[in-house]
Amino acid sequence: MAPLSKAGAALTALREDLSGEVFTPQDPGYDGARTVFNAMIDRKPAVIAQCESTADVVTAVRFARDLDLKVAVRGGGHSVAGMSLNDGGLVVDLRRMHEVTVHPAARAVHIEGGATMSHLDRACQPYDLATTGGRASTTGVGGFVLGGGTGWLDRKFGLAVDNLLGVDLVTADGELLHVTAEDHPELFWGLHGGGGNFGVATSLTLRLHELPAMSIAFVLYLPERGPEVVRAFRDLIEAGPPEASGAALYVTGPPEDFVPPHLVGLLLAGALLTYAGPEEEMRELARPLLAIPHESEIVTAIPYADLQSMIDDPPGMRNYWSAEYLTGIPDEFVNAFCARAESMPVPTGTQHLVFPQGGAIASGPADYPVPYRDAPWAVHPFGIWEDEADDERCRQWVKDVRADVEPWSTGAVYLNFIGDEGGDRVVSGLGSESMRRLGELKRKYDPDNVFRFNHNIRPL
Ligand SMILES: Cc1cc2nc3c(=O)[nH]c(=O)nc-3n(C[C@H](O)[C@H](O)[C@H](O)COP(=O)(O)OP(=O)(O)OC[C@H]3O[C@@H](n4cnc5c(N)ncnc54)[C@H](O)[C@@H]3O)c2cc1C
Repeated sequence: MAPLSKAGAALTALREDLSGEVFTPQDPGYDGARTVFNAMIDRKPAVIAQCESTADVVTAVRFARDLDLKVAVRGGGHSVAGMSLNDGGLVVDLRRMHEVTVHPAARAVHIEGGATMSHLDRACQPYDLATTGGRASTTGVGGFVLGGGTGWLDRKFGLAVDNLLGVDLVTADGELLHVTAEDHPELFWGLHGGGGNFGVATSLTLRLHELPAMSIAFVLYLPERGPEVVRAFRDLIEAGPPEASGAALYVTGPPEDFVPPHLVGLLLAGALLTYAGPEEEMRELARPLLAIPHESEIVTAIPYADLQSMIDDPPGMRNYWSAEYLTGIPDEFVNAFCARAESMPVPTGTQHLVFPQGGAIASGPADYPVPYRDAPWAVHPFGIWEDEADDERCRQWVKDVRADVEPWSTGAVYLNFIGDEGGDRVVSGLGSESMRRLGELKRKYDPDNVFRFNHNIRPL
């Protein structure tokens, strides 16, 4: 950290130069500006630069370099490990940069680095175009895509990184690079899973696909039906087309109109079948799920952008998440998965999910640092709760799920679904073969590890 006199003068200059806004602990609005999705995260950056343009981002990065401040980059603020904040450093906050420009003829969309899924999906919906997005509308596109990106459309259109056409990236030197398969191809490769390790993505360009219809069946059951439901869901997905996706799950019965009042707040099993096509086709596929005695159902066509905001998790809750990618889900797995549901913390927002991969995920480019691509299924326990007193119970339950499914784990993991689980898990998330190549890239573009608030790749 530079002497205070220099810091004071530089801060004044930063406030003048930025078209966005600067927050320090003395400024009103500072606490709001450092609030992220996971209520367990309470970090206090020295400076938050809310950027409004690429020029602002360059200014903020250079300011941090001059003062030797650590830099965190904030997109949607959804990292459960709170990686978009630091203590005592600078935060490049991109939330004011959320412009989305659709190019229908080119089947492409240009997205500013702080846009959320909602900005993206709502902009594309009028054209009946879409790309693989996350399952919540408030997730940031930047962190989602650069980390890999999975969602209801990935079996049909591939992972989000498989649709990445270009990135405008401000590097640790404050230089702006336009990164594509032709320009800086090695860096382009590294951005397919390497997250925010190489710089600030001020914009991303993604490929779009036609999506004229979307439909879903969401069915809730008494928990004792769980094994039957998971097996039926598995069988219909494994025999079904890549348009079909979704999850088999356990949840606390939500206080919604479609849930009978006596089941609100209780453990329920469920199946969500999503289908990138018309309702009639989806109904045919959903028959085995609807044939199992159930407590409630929603079977309907739905615009993709509406589906994307249907299961938004509430902000302000405490979160601990993990995931394992699986070689398959035979009946023994189903039994273990369902047995663990019995101790799922209820009533909380905690969810216990097993969801399919396969389709276009499996057939996508083998070379990218996303080593979980080949796994046909993934289990994703996510603890969400309100009361601090439940911290230990909820965290332990998530860890227990991981331990239960270990016999079926491929060992690879999608880093965006986990918190900070240590360096070995980063290797599992990027692939041991890719680590050396990524480490060399890191040495070239960020030798001082300025961008370290991520699933960190050390410069070789
Ligand atoms: C409710 C919820 C639902 C989710 N659903 C899904 C899902 O369906 N599919 C899925 O794949 N993931 C999902 N995720 C995980 C999500 O993809 C990751 O948490 C992702 O990192 C979030 O990105 P963000 O920009 O919101 O997060 P942030 O916390 O802002 O950032 C996360 C990381 O990405 C970096 N980063 C963010 N933006 C940029 C940028 N523009 N340039 C450089 N680095 C950047 C940050 O520095 C940080 O290291 C979900 C998360 C939540 C909380």
